[in-house]
Parts: sequence; structure tokens; C-alpha cells
Amino acid sequence: MSVRSDPYKVAVSQVQRAGEMLGLEQGMIDLMTRPKREFTVNFPVRMDDGSIRVFTGFRVQHNFARGPCKGGIRYHPAVSLDEVRALAMWMTWKCATVGLPYGGAKGGVICNPKEMSAGELERMTRRYASEIAPIIGPHVDIPAPDMYTDAQVMAWIMDTYSMNVGYSVPGVVTGKPISLGGSEGREEATSRGLAYCVREAMTVEGVQREGATAAVQGFGNVGWNAARLLKEELGMRITALSDSSGGIFDPAGLDPVDVYEHKRRTGSVQGYPEALDITNQELLEMECTVLVPAALENVLSSDNADRVKARIVAEGANGPTTPEADRVLYEKGITLIPDILCNAGGVTVSYFEWVQDLQFLFWSKAEIENRLDQIMTYSFARVYATAGAKEVDMRTAAYLLAVDEVVQATKMRGIYP
Ligand code: NAD
Repeated sequence: MSVRSDPYKVAVSQVQRAGEMLGLEQGMIDLMTRPKREFTVNFPVRMDDGSIRVFTGFRVQHNFARGPCKGGIRYHPAVSLDEVRALAMWMTWKCATVGLPYGGAKGGVICNPKEMSAGELERMTRRYASEIAPIIGPHVDIPAPDMYTDAQVMAWIMDTYSMNVGYSVPGVVTGKPISLGGSEGREEATSRGLAYCVREAMTVEGVQREGATAAVQGFGNVGWNAARLLKEELGMRITALSDSSGGIFDPAGLDPVDVYEHKRRTGSVQGYPEALDITNQELLEMECTVLVPAALENVLSSDNADRVKARIVAEGANGPTTPEADRVLYEKGITLIPDILCNAGGVTVSYFEWVQDLQFLFWSKAEIENRLDQIMTYSFARVYATAGAKEVDMRTAAYLLAVDEVVQATKMRGIYP
């Protein structure tokens, strides 16, 4: 089943399973799977040629039992309400897994940003921000970047919201430029959190650092920073890298910074001098210590899971492994660090950004890294220990902990009125 085509169904089935294992009544499971609020907006934008175009956007707030909602905004032609629902729900579990005082949300606009001018993007962003303004805010719901939205888009949203209320509100979005209250270390945060998880997994599983290798699929924000940090901070040899055009392999080790330069010059990682061109499929199945899927959903499925040779799979992407592949990898004894833990470094540093914005007091990069390390290390240990105690894979363990956390908060608050 494709998570992209049926994402909400997958998200619901994960919670249903955890809920049953926790012995929850069906009403509580329903409460955990149904988003609290779903907002659809249709709004006009004046295009550069003078025409009017109507766009459809969404903002889904899944749950705020544990605090305000948090989650990115995606600009993509394939955005759908079901996809946004699923992504909002995954944010709830991700925040609970690493103990952030948030519920999950997600937003999206159906559009093709690659075909829009900067002016059209700005007008669309500002109008979308105005449309969702009644339900967002620094104490209500704090958006952030996701696919095809960036620090510039966040700056427009912050400005639009601020103009409407009449004063500057930096804490309404995270992932902003540093000059507007953004945080140090936000750009590499997801990958840094992933590297901390890999470090912990190697320690508890007794995997030697010496001679360890990594293969990384995807060379965007998460993939490239993950490759760089695994090499620089854990001393790993990066034997394979890839992007949408294909991969490269060098058993002697690739230099991610140099490959980044090559990709900037040529548009692709392929054709990198002295490396062998390979396919994305070959990368996923190659001999390595750590495999990092950091591109798309569903790349590890029942089609290839039994050929994965990595010792550890660290999910940089959201949803790269299907439920069937999860079972195969677990039976093979591969340690899989699930997305809601492994890539939670991004939302964790977003949380730091929000805290800094609310206090108008900013932290150094060293302080950010230190706090991120503490949160990731503690969360990893908690999920790993639960997996061991319950004799389940780490994804199931993370869901058991996260769903229980949200259920406890819901029970303590009670059912209103
Ligand atoms: P990005 O757009 O910066 O990079 C995506 C990369 O994937 C690009 O290098 C692209 O070439 C590559 N890619 C696309 N199609 C591919 C294919 N068929 N095979 C191999 N590679 C392909 O995106 P990103 O921010 O790095 O996000 C990657 C994944 O990580 C997504 O699943 C995203 O939801 C997840 N994620 C990102 C963050 C974050 O902070 N950026 C946080 C949590 C999770």
C-alpha cells in the first residue's frame, strides 16, 4: 500500500494496533485517530499575467491534549486532505516520542511552486496565511517548513500574521531566518538528531565504530547533512549516496562536502569522479553498517526488505518503510530507528526556536546541540528499553509510548464538559 496514496489509513492502522496493545477502549482509539480540527480554504490569487487563480489549502490540527499544535506546511500538486491528516497525526506521535509539549498539525496548499514566480508564491503564501490566521498563533498552532516551503515562506507568514495583529509575533512560525528570530542549528537539526540516534544504536547494539560504513538515499537537506555528520562526528566511511537521478558508490569513502559541490555544479550526484554510478535500488540493498533512507516514502517494502544488508536502518525520511518491510527487517535482526524518533531533531530545534522567540532570549549553537543531544539520547534509550521489555520492534515501542503519553494527558484533562 502506498503511504502517499493512502497515508491516513496507514496512520490509523498504526494507532489502532498500539491502542489494542495498550488495552484502550475503542472510543479512546477513535479520539486518538480523528483530527480535532480540519480546515479547508479556497482562496484567490492574482497571477503575474493578471488572471485570478483559486487555490485550495488545508490546515489540520490533530490533537492538542499536550500543548499547542506544531507541524509544517507543504506546497505540492499532490497535497490532499488525507495526506495532511496523516502527516498531522504523525507529528502528534513524534512530539510525544521526544517529549515536546505539543500536539501535531500539518498544512498544505495544492500548487506547483516550481511553476510559480516569487511574486505569485509570496501572494499565495500571504493569502493562505491570512485564511488560516484565525486558527494559528504562538499559543495555538505553530507552522514550520515542509516540502517546498522554506525560511522565506516562513518569513512571509510571520510578517502577514504580525501585520494582521498589529505587532511582531516571531513565535507564530519556526524555521525562520535567523534575522527574524530563527534558531541556530535549525538547518542541520534533523540530521544531527539522526546522527545522535545512530551513535546510541551502535553503542547499545555493540556495533564497532571502527570501519563502520553508511549508505544514504536522498541528498537534500536531511540526506546531505546526515552523510556529512555521520562522517565528521562519528568517523564513518560514506560508501554510497544518491538523489533522484541515481546513486554513487566508492568503497574507499565519499566526501559529502565535495559531492555537494559536484551536485551544485552538475545538478546530480552521479558522474562524481572515481565513484561508480549505481541505482537507488542497489544503494538500498548494499552491504553497509548504517542505511539512511532520507528521500521518499515506501522505499523499503516487501519487494526488497529481505535483501537489505545494513545492520542499522536510520529513517531520515517520513514513512520510508512499509509495515510489511518492518516485519521482515525485525525478523532479520536489523535495528530500525523509526522516523518518529530518528528524524525528530528537526521539530525539537523548532521547539527551541519557539521557546527562544517567546522569551526574546537566544541561545548559542553549542547550547542548541547540547540540549538536542540530551533529548535525542534520552528518547532513544526510552524507546529502545521499551522495545526490549515488550519484545517488539522500535517503531511499535515508540507508538506504544507516544500514544500512551497522549492518552494519559487526555484522561487527566477529562472529557469536556
Ligand atoms: P529535500 O527536498 O531537501 O531533499 C529530498 C532529496 O530526495 C533530494 O536530494 C532528491 O533528489 C531526493 N530524491 C527525490 N526523489 C528521489 C528518488 N526517487 N530516489 C532517491 N532520491 C530521491 O527534502 P528533505 O527536507 O531532505 O526531506 C527528505 C525526507 O525527510 C522527507 O521524507 C521529509 O518529510 C523528511 N523530513 C525532513 C525534515 C527536515 O527537517 N527537512 C524533518 C523530518 C523529516
